Amino acid sequence: MSSFNYIDGELHAEQVSLRQLAAQFGTPLYVYSRSELERQWRAMDEAFGDYPHQIYYAVKANSNLAVLQVLAQLGSGFDIVSGGELQRVLAAGGGAEKVVFSGVAKSEQELELAIREGVHCINAESEAELNRIQLVASRLQTTARVGLRINPDVDPKTHPYISTGMAEAKFGINMQAALARCRTAVDLPNVEIIGIACHIGSQIVTTTPFTEALQCVLEFVDQMQDLGISLQHLDLGGGLGIDYNGESPPSAQQYVGAILSCLHDRGVTLPVGIEPGRFICANAGLLLTQVEYLKSNGDKRFAVIDAGMNDLLRPALYQAEHRIVNVIESAPSQKCLDVVGPVCESSDVMARQCNIAAAPGDLLAIMSAGAYGFGMASNYNSRPRAAEVMVQNDRSSLIRRRESFEDLVRGEQFFEAD
Ligand SMILES: *Cc1c(COP(=O)(O)O)cnc(C)c1O
Repeated sequence: MSSFNYIDGELHAEQVSLRQLAAQFGTPLYVYSRSELERQWRAMDEAFGDYPHQIYYAVKANSNLAVLQVLAQLGSGFDIVSGGELQRVLAAGGGAEKVVFSGVAKSEQELELAIREGVHCINAESEAELNRIQLVASRLQTTARVGLRINPDVDPKTHPYISTGMAEAKFGINMQAALARCRTAVDLPNVEIIGIACHIGSQIVTTTPFTEALQCVLEFVDQMQDLGISLQHLDLGGGLGIDYNGESPPSAQQYVGAILSCLHDRGVTLPVGIEPGRFICANAGLLLTQVEYLKSNGDKRFAVIDAGMNDLLRPALYQAEHRIVNVIESAPSQKCLDVVGPVCESSDVMARQCNIAAAPGDLLAIMSAGAYGFGMASNYNSRPRAAEVMVQNDRSSLIRRRESFEDLVRGEQFFEAD
């Protein structure tokens, strides 16, 4: 079931015509389905049944305030990786008491904000960071709740740029050092260890890497209990993959079921947090774009579109493959073409060798663009960032206006010697 379907031969977002959205708001345009966001969040939440749990939506996947508000209203928690993301969560009505703070380079200012606001847990990734948390918490005369993010050295079998839990990655504390870090933390007067965290990567399409990582976490739980530390939760990170172009990832039921069965086998009843990002929002969004030109160079044929790598970086950054369809339902073309963007970089290719029917002026939809799409957008080539629209049923709402030239140069000024 998807929220993007052809109705009378024309692609719609829920019941809203994409052709009409393009006419109203222009292209490139991000379009999100509110119903799909809610469905994905609920699928994950309900998969836990009665088991104590909290969903911490990974804000970096899509941090638009309207998206965060929809999830906050469902009762979601949030996984943040910066002070800016914490401010977004609070602005969208999310509660700090349901926030976990991840990331390898938390600054003193960010830690201070997080501790002042009373986030549920700060996931520490190094001894140096533990010491910094201690410093900031003692300055604020309070105790910081901390989780240790371990690196379980598990291969998630995904693209190397989105693998985070292998020994050579910068993330987490390796298993050998983790117990020593734990001992360090126990001696810090303003730090309370409440949990263990791990996050092994993204777009993971089988359950095995998750259960392998969980086994490492559980071994570590036993060792911590031997040290007299009583944990309040296990944070198992995000990473469940989605169907971009024919992948068949586990369902929320299968993924959570695999986690719960490991916990059950070990007799563990601790509350569990998970941090899904992509799973919640990737297939709730698409990027609507218009074909500007067709051209050929020798044997190669290109459709040049008005959305580029500055709008959607994933193909250029990760060799990601997004399905692209014509908004008007049409038979596949006999001739292959590459769909390329306007940015002056050879890597600005949205898709290679597509059998898509495309003529100048046609609208194309780049599917599965709701996660790591707008959030990674930039102004490279002085291109204003796209507008974002959210739809529900037959209603649509502009949730971020298209940027203007004034937005592009905001904050810049001419040289003035003093
Ligand atoms: C990016 C990230 C996530 C979300 O990953 P998805 O693959 O989008 O589910 C969760 N936790 C941490 C710590 C992350 O860095």
